[in-house]
Amino acid sequence: MTQVPSVVIEIAHLSAWLMALVVIFIPLERIFSVRPQRFFRKGIGVDLAYYFISGLVPAVLLAFPVSLLAWLSHRFVPNFILEGAGSLPPWARIVAGLFLVDVGYYWGHRWCHEVPFLWRFHAVHHSAEEMDFLVSSRSHPFDIVFGHFCGLVPLYVLGLAGPTREQGGSDVALVVKIIGLFWGFFIHSNLNWRFGPLEWLISTPAFHHWHHTKTGPIDRNYCATLPWVDWLFGTLYLPKEWPSDYGIKGPMSDSLVDQLMNPIFPPAAATTSVSVSVSVSAAPVAATESHSNEPDAVSRVD
Ligand SMILES: [Zn+2]
Ligand SMILES: [Zn+2]
Repeated sequence: MTQVPSVVIEIAHLSAWLMALVVIFIPLERIFSVRPQRFFRKGIGVDLAYYFISGLVPAVLLAFPVSLLAWLSHRFVPNFILEGAGSLPPWARIVAGLFLVDVGYYWGHRWCHEVPFLWRFHAVHHSAEEMDFLVSSRSHPFDIVFGHFCGLVPLYVLGLAGPTREQGGSDVALVVKIIGLFWGFFIHSNLNWRFGPLEWLISTPAFHHWHHTKTGPIDRNYCATLPWVDWLFGTLYLPKEWPSDYGIKGPMSDSLVDQLMNPIFPPAAATTSVSVSVSVSAAPVAATESHSNEPDAVSRVD
């Protein structure tokens, strides 16, 4: 019997997960919508393509850097750290893992806004003008690889990334990745659910929608799951109201090919845009004008 190529199996898995996400989110986004919008909104075709690209490509691109990271941590991280991390109960490893990944991801994500070269890729994600669960997938593969890698660094450095053989073979990196993946769909969704005082503890759509605002303070709310990490670094912004619009002020090609290629080979007229004034005060920041969304932003953004 002919063997089915693994990429076909992977596409079938992704299709099944997409159907599950559609069944969960479409009704909820109709009943509890932040604002009414159609499923077949602008850019839905490109976002569906990104869903499959994000599910297939970054894993391949991440294989070598993660292997290198694993080797370096095995070679240089002191044994007492690895043994200490290994002796923690599984729940503590997962809680610590969520925190460490969010700290690593926070800085990777923040650099994507502050470093012009990285913003060229990350801008693709911010170009969505309507928010729903599928916007979570709208990312350039390089942007995904960079963000995931930054999240994994503290996990490896503190010995939490390896398999816990003595605890049933669970893998903190995998568990944290799955939680982050599903939470990513949730915080991008068009769901008006607010968590009251718990919004400081765990990220919500409102928290991340403010990160996508077009005219508000975009250089805020960088973390994925734990808003208090943003509070620690002085970039939390969480008012009661919702942003009035989403996207970037610069032009962006509607073409998937352009969005994938332009960050690597920028069109001659394209310029980069980068935040130049990010508050690092210890207190939650007030609404201030952001600079990473200026009109001269590179035309293809995420
Ligand atoms: Zn961002
Ligand atoms: Zn986002």
